[in-house]
Amino acid sequence: MPKRPKLVLVGQLSVFPWAFEAAERAGIDLILVPRGDDTLESAGRPDAVVELLPLDIDDDPDGALSALTERHRQEPFDGIMSGNERVIPFVARAARELGFPGLTEEAAAVVRDKRSMRQRLLEAGLGVPGFVVVKDPDHWTDALTLRFPVVVKPANGHSSFAVIRADDRDSLEQAVARTWSLVETHMAAADGSHSDTGVLVEEYLDGPEISAESLVFHGQVRVCAISWKGELTGPYFEETTLRAPAQLPAEILAAIEAEVIGAHHAFSVTEGTTHTELRLVGGVRPVLLEMTARLGGGGNMHHLTHVSSGIDLAAEALRIHLGQEPLCWREEPAPAGHAAAYLVPIGGGGRVKRIRGLEAVRADPRVDYVVETAGPGALLRPYPDWTGNPAVVLSHHASDAEAAAYLAHLAQTLHVEYEERD
Ligand code: ADP
Ligand code: CA
Ligand code: CA
Ligand code: CA
Ligand code: CA
Repeated sequence: MPKRPKLVLVGQLSVFPWAFEAAERAGIDLILVPRGDDTLESAGRPDAVVELLPLDIDDDPDGALSALTERHRQEPFDGIMSGNERVIPFVARAARELGFPGLTEEAAAVVRDKRSMRQRLLEAGLGVPGFVVVKDPDHWTDALTLRFPVVVKPANGHSSFAVIRADDRDSLEQAVARTWSLVETHMAAADGSHSDTGVLVEEYLDGPEISAESLVFHGQVRVCAISWKGELTGPYFEETTLRAPAQLPAEILAAIEAEVIGAHHAFSVTEGTTHTELRLVGGVRPVLLEMTARLGGGGNMHHLTHVSSGIDLAAEALRIHLGQEPLCWREEPAPAGHAAAYLVPIGGGGRVKRIRGLEAVRADPRVDYVVETAGPGALLRPYPDWTGNPAVVLSHHASDAEAAAYLAHLAQTLHVEYEERD
């Protein structure tokens, strides 16, 4: 029997099971570098995790890299992969130092910064909305060269935190001030660093939103699934529903694939898995919003991909980071049906009492996963001052119409109940 490969998975929250289950299916042992806020006790250590390796990446990346190198010297492992957004540059650096496949540090820096992504797309001749980098809140008038409506956002944010649509001059001034202060109060602290914060203003891309999950191995990109997020018009952009496969004509699907593949080349993303968000301007022309070089949604995009295309996205990603060719490079998997994701919206915010309706959902045979990330007592802030979805429901369906009807049903029946305020 050949030795089971061992992969270091950095900062993957253990409440999200998809990457861990994929490792079990693929016969891969994981060394988990827990995220600082991961309460591993509550869910228990996932079965695929054979070792925990705490590293202080945020506050001491050099020390973390030496500790990792020392661990590798004692007993070698076979690869390393990012389990969240913030660790992507560290993982790229570690992969280079230890000689593992991964992103170059340059590519890692590009996909962590929306300003660089916009610049690269522009240089590659791909679709880009008009955009302006605001270097100081007083310089909001720099954005008046753009056509309204516009969207104001942090240059390296996530989950639509502090992303605000502005329709005119007055609301632009207010939005820049608001985004700026949200970035200063929350992001610097959350990142453990004060570097690289900044605000981007972009012309509003009018059309439905989609996402694409891809694998990339030795520079060759495969778009595995395209999901439908629907119309999100703002002023804030809390995601609530996804369905896959997106029901779109073949020529639009082909245009999306071309745009996504072009973006990988433009960003020099050559190994791993990515989650790309796009808008379909006028319902037809795909334009990138952003790309992230990891499994989307903490891994829940794995489920949409696995069901809708048959591709075991998370397992293939682990394989790529071990230097192995993805199985779907040679064998075409069979799609299994339609998938849906419902991200329970925060609503008014406050201290969570419970999520009403979740018990019925858990009992539904169409439901594959219910993951609660904010239990009783958690304090949630409403958008644009985001703290995360309190729960996600993943399901499978026989048709897109059934998936859509189920999402509408969840929107009617699932609500976060908050404690009374005094
Ligand atoms: P984040 O990293 O916070 O997710 P995004 O750039 O993806 O940042 O923006 C969050 C959401 O805001 C997007 O999913 C989209 O709905 C909306 N949005 C951002 N930029 C634009 C734009 N230029 N046009 C239309 N909608 C946008
Ligand atoms: Ca992002
Ligand atoms: Ca996004
Ligand atoms: Ca997103
Ligand atoms: Ca069930």
